[in-house]
Amino acid sequence: MGPGPINCYPRVLSAMSTQLVGQYDPVMTGYMNETMALYRQVFMTQNQQTLLVDGTSRAGIEAMIVSCLEPGDRVLVPIFGRFGHLLTEIAERVGAKVFTIEVAWGEVFKAEQIEAAIKQFDPKMVAIVQGDTSTTMLQPLADIGEVCRRLDVILYCDGTASIGGNAFETDNWKIDAVSVGLQKCLGGPSGSAPITMGERYLDIINKRRHIELGIRDENHQAGQNSRIQSNYFDLPMIIDYWGDERLNHHTEAASMLYCARECAINLLDEGIDNCIARHKLNGDAMLAGVKGLNLKPFGDISNKMNNVVGVYIPENVDGEAIRHQMLHDFNIEIGTSFGPLHGKIWRIGTMGYNARQDCVLSTLQSLESVLRRNGHKMKLGEAVDAAFSVYGK
Ligand SMILES: *Cc1c(COP(=O)(O)O)cnc(C)c1O
Repeated sequence: MGPGPINCYPRVLSAMSTQLVGQYDPVMTGYMNETMALYRQVFMTQNQQTLLVDGTSRAGIEAMIVSCLEPGDRVLVPIFGRFGHLLTEIAERVGAKVFTIEVAWGEVFKAEQIEAAIKQFDPKMVAIVQGDTSTTMLQPLADIGEVCRRLDVILYCDGTASIGGNAFETDNWKIDAVSVGLQKCLGGPSGSAPITMGERYLDIINKRRHIELGIRDENHQAGQNSRIQSNYFDLPMIIDYWGDERLNHHTEAASMLYCARECAINLLDEGIDNCIARHKLNGDAMLAGVKGLNLKPFGDISNKMNNVVGVYIPENVDGEAIRHQMLHDFNIEIGTSFGPLHGKIWRIGTMGYNARQDCVLSTLQSLESVLRRNGHKMKLGEAVDAAFSVYGK
């Protein structure tokens, strides 16, 4: 019950144990095409170029940034938590000129703040996180795409922590490029990064297409712009691998592809709206429950992600001792936190397979017991009752 990774859906675990097939076996290429179609639905996009980057979510982030930004290119990163700092760090390593704006942890940006910063810094790209698990906040994106189109800036978003448990509408919100991972609300293991790329983003990276020697033939034209600094994360080459030409790049991580495919099928079987509603219901129950434990939730609750809540550690208890007892006495993991929040809040998730009433109730009941034994004062029974009332019982 931490902020991710969380328990996998059982059907995703089963998919992982499926026998391997060769990467050009028609079964495998069929699965690749099917996975592209499934993730178009997950991302709510018509983008043809919707595929998997092999690696954890950070691999998707790095591929998105390194394929687009050439050394010296300007990028704006609005930072509202740890992962904004990660986008900054990756863009700096790529040699981009990075401009940042920040709000305090626990808050999000207004579209006007981002518009003003674009006008001030004139970036080629805005790189932003949707849900930052480090603060539990969900950045509203619906208005930012419009601003970026109007000012001719590429909008890239890391939706890893939020997709599947909170609305994410790539095309309606005019987002040019998105990357995610499996280990949050999609309920899979870490190790595959689904991404989607729209025309405006593709126009930029296609000018940097330089197919590697050994697979290049005389029909392949080199792009006019600089070669992408990374081979592994070279998205034009990865696109050519997933496309009709099937130009060899890496060997597709077959087991992870089975997983990613299963995560998408699982989400679409439930229905995206139903899955978001389930995350909201269980997130609301957990929020009511922690208040019932006489704990104070962290941050601007009106912008909280459905799938994780931050909770101030009461002054009279040792936060790590509580986590330790939850894990070792009750087999329930809750999260610690990073940076300025380290030692100040716990983070409790309700996501993917664990966004369920039984998980919420047993976590609250266990936490009540552990907190009581550590001297924290609360009204016994109130947490579970508060959660029950959110469930309408
Ligand atoms: C959890 C999380 C990640 C995870 O990255 P990994 O490389 O899979 O560890 C990335 N971005 C955000 C916003 C996250 O919350």
